[in-house]
Amino acid sequence: MLSKTVVHQCRRGGSARLRKNGHADNGAQQAKCLECGRTFTLSPKGPRYDQRFKGAGGSPPTRTA
Ligand SMILES: [Zn+2]
Repeated sequence: MLSKTVVHQCRRGGSARLRKNGHADNGAQQAKCLECGRTFTLSPKGPRYDQRFKGAGGSPPTRTA
């Protein structure tokens, strides 16, 4: 299996020394750079977290609004 390892880097100095810093209102992970102290939002949830694929073993919540 291939697994992508997403390495978040500081958008300012490119440092990978980040610390998780809670979540934004939209649920996006926020991080704080330990180098420069800058706080920013990481990439939102990827497609692999899509709710369409979450109904494993059961009936998927198919909504037709
Ligand atoms: Zn930084």
